[in-house]
Amino acid sequence: MNPPEGWGTVPSRNLSYEFDEPNRGVGHRKPIPKGEGQSGKESSPSRIHIWLYSRPMAETTKKIALQTLGCRLNQYETEKMAAELYPFGFRRAEPGEKADLYIINTCTVTHRADSDCRQMVKKAARENPNGKVVVAGCYVDNDPALIGGISGVHVLIKNKEKERIASILPSQLPDLFDREPDSSCSTNITDFHGHNRAWLKVSDGCNQWCSFCIIPTVRGRLRNRPVNDIVSEVSSLVANGYNEIVLTGVHLGHYKNRQTEPQAKNLASLCRMILDRTEVKRIRLSSIEPQTVREELVQVYAESAGRICRHMHIPLQSGSSRILKLMQRPYDQNTYIKRVTAVKEAQPNTIVGADVIVGFPGETDADFGQTKRLAESGLIDYLHVFSYSDRPGTPASQMSDKISPEVIKERNAILSEISERNRAKAHLRQVGERLEVIAEHRKPHDREFFGVADNFIKVKLSWEIDGGKRLIPIRVTAACDEFVVGMVEN
Ligand code: SF4
Repeated sequence: MNPPEGWGTVPSRNLSYEFDEPNRGVGHRKPIPKGEGQSGKESSPSRIHIWLYSRPMAETTKKIALQTLGCRLNQYETEKMAAELYPFGFRRAEPGEKADLYIINTCTVTHRADSDCRQMVKKAARENPNGKVVVAGCYVDNDPALIGGISGVHVLIKNKEKERIASILPSQLPDLFDREPDSSCSTNITDFHGHNRAWLKVSDGCNQWCSFCIIPTVRGRLRNRPVNDIVSEVSSLVANGYNEIVLTGVHLGHYKNRQTEPQAKNLASLCRMILDRTEVKRIRLSSIEPQTVREELVQVYAESAGRICRHMHIPLQSGSSRILKLMQRPYDQNTYIKRVTAVKEAQPNTIVGADVIVGFPGETDADFGQTKRLAESGLIDYLHVFSYSDRPGTPASQMSDKISPEVIKERNAILSEISERNRAKAHLRQVGERLEVIAEHRKPHDREFFGVADNFIKVKLSWEIDGGKRLIPIRVTAACDEFVVGMVEN
């Protein structure tokens, strides 16, 4: 039996260990099943395999702790920064364990995100006076003086500097980076700390400039990764056991790459190439703009035989075409309905979610009424409802006719309640259905254990199930507002 990629064997001394999580040294004794030894007979001690996966690490004396706020793209970039720093001899600090280096990857999409970031940075600096605090990401691009002015912050890393973190930090923190990186140590992402599903960045930046949005300012113009980089990272994640990979970017639907071979004219052709060239069990598309849900993508989705998850998150923002125009969103209510209907008809039991903003400047009761009616139509299975938040530097922040906080609060409550009803109906439709679920990471103190189905339905699993990254076939036996109950099927 040959150990998987990246694993090594060492001569036996009557011990057998298989590391669950390669770089965390957690293991348990596991007999080698019959037929998996040379002779197929019960293995005698001298033929026990010892498999060790050890990311070639330099001396692992230093500990790193990383925190992420915001989107999946940020989560991917946090893991990428970690992978770039492991060769310097860092290992991930356990929850609650003191670290030498703290990296906080920030978000600035709303003022609420800003205050969460400030709190997190202050807490890290206050509780770890001996540690080095590095703040990265969108808040740094948006307001470096403010976030950099927090006492205890040592280094700021802008979005475009994240890829060069391994060359920036050694010069800024020489005491901590007291050795050369171990060149035998891969900087590929092999593990999404605490996640059984993987995120994969396919693009960055955005050229759409919606009038309320600060993201193009902090993430820059749209730029797409070469197809081969994406395909090889999918294969590397599959080799590390991931069965679901979430494709992410700021403006995923605008993916295309004509600069390098093989060329991909759009997201549909990228998906086709990933499915043709890798063994990935399923890919999920993270948020995708309605105008980019075109026929070719719906066709690839329809023909993917379940390898593209039956779940699309398609931001609506408003059901009023008048407000969509003020938001500089390039579609109207009709187009939105047509595109979502096409997706739902392409695969049975498809679940669609949407972002909606309430309280955009100038939003009348009539405008809100249109959003409410579209939400009540049941076309959309759940909503992420955001209260409008003035982002300095955006055109909307200059608009007059701001909506009062009370009205915004009321409209948010109305749509959130409709969303809960729609989600509960979607759960009821699952009863009797067969779904494939990936278990979420088991949290030590949680008595409840959940997984995610391909159509994004939250499934309660029995505690005994051995989760991990594998696809678990279940039959839905019951449903409630928050989740459905799944019985494992063999
Ligand atoms: S599409 Fe619009 S909302 Fe989305 S990141 Fe770009 S500007 Fe912001």
